[in-house]
Amino acid sequence: MVDAVYDSSTPPESVHRIHDEDAGLDGVIVLHSTRRGPAAGGCRLWRYADRAAMAGDAMRLAEGMTYKNAMAGLPLGGGKAVLNLPQGPFDRRKFFAAFGRAVAKLDGGYVTAEDVGTGVADMEAVRGETRHVAGLPPQGGRPGGDPSPWTARGVFLAMEEAARRQLGSELKGMRVAVQGLGHVGSALCGMLHQAGARLIVAEPRPGVAAEIAVRYDAEIMGRDAILDARCAIFVPCALGGVLDAEAVRRLRARIVCGAANNVLATPEDGDRLADRGILYAPDYVVNAGGIISVAGEYLGWDAVEVQARVEASGERLAAVLNHAAREGLAPHRAADALARARIGAPAAARMREAA
Ligand code: NAD
Repeated sequence: MVDAVYDSSTPPESVHRIHDEDAGLDGVIVLHSTRRGPAAGGCRLWRYADRAAMAGDAMRLAEGMTYKNAMAGLPLGGGKAVLNLPQGPFDRRKFFAAFGRAVAKLDGGYVTAEDVGTGVADMEAVRGETRHVAGLPPQGGRPGGDPSPWTARGVFLAMEEAARRQLGSELKGMRVAVQGLGHVGSALCGMLHQAGARLIVAEPRPGVAAEIAVRYDAEIMGRDAILDARCAIFVPCALGGVLDAEAVRRLRARIVCGAANNVLATPEDGDRLADRGILYAPDYVVNAGGIISVAGEYLGWDAVEVQARVEASGERLAAVLNHAAREGLAPHRAADALARARIGAPAAARMREAA
């Protein structure tokens, strides 16, 4: 995976370094945009090489949330919290309570939820300190809980749409390669299996890979080798930056559609996909199911409203692909143009690979 340095021409509205020595908390909260509403986006717990890498990840992810929330039609801006995973054991409740106090200080400017490395119990610890958190256990049939199944559902529907357009076919019998069997990837495997797709999977945790292989009759490939898999659809569900120039050259899929944020190492890699005739379903257009659930919980929508908005994931992708075809743009550029028009943002943000 590529380590990217953020080089933005749409700088965030504010960046907040958060630190609590006693709790072992060290992180950053980025409010990229509050133009459409409170900056909403999950909290990532990950081990970073240094503070610059942590801040860079937070900025990219926060900007992605601005675009994602706008394209999903949510009355929310974009933000993200990124926390450095402490070395050795730590008191998780205390750690997330300290994070909750940092969120509370922003007074509703930032709304948090789960992301990679965090879960429902962590958000409950945050809730002890602030009400600006979602992804809590659902109550009385209202939206809530782990947003991942909603993300998986949205990606699945987008994949159906992409398969129809690109291959003129439904998913039944198609070879689909899923990279990463975490919360979203494993849920997606269940949906794909049910739809009759033939699964190829890669996951660093051998026990998890073996379990999915048995349950869904999937073939296991190595973490790197899956890029070469003979398949119709490549489904990135691990971390970002997986598609750089070399990876794009290696892909044998006709479609890329997955949950991972910031799949493209650089925008040029999206152009490379288009040049190779591979349909790229832009990440933030297809993986908004989870944030729709989070928004519904935070804003007090009912479950029917959340479901209806997630079920429109295929239509949202279709709108982007239609715009791309009309304007002669690659899909990721079409999505950026549509998102920017909704946000009223100036020029595009750029990323360049770390030297
Ligand atoms: P997760 O941490 O539960 O799962 C990630 C999985 O990828 C883990 O099982 C991990 O072992 C595996 N992995 C790590 N490196 C890998 C590699 N090189 N090859 C294959 N597998 C690898 O995270 P998640 O919640 O399932 O999210 C997956 C991706 O989707 C992330 O990029 C996340 O930001 C994005 N996303 C998630 C949601 C959500 O609702 N959870 C919403 C939008 C976007």
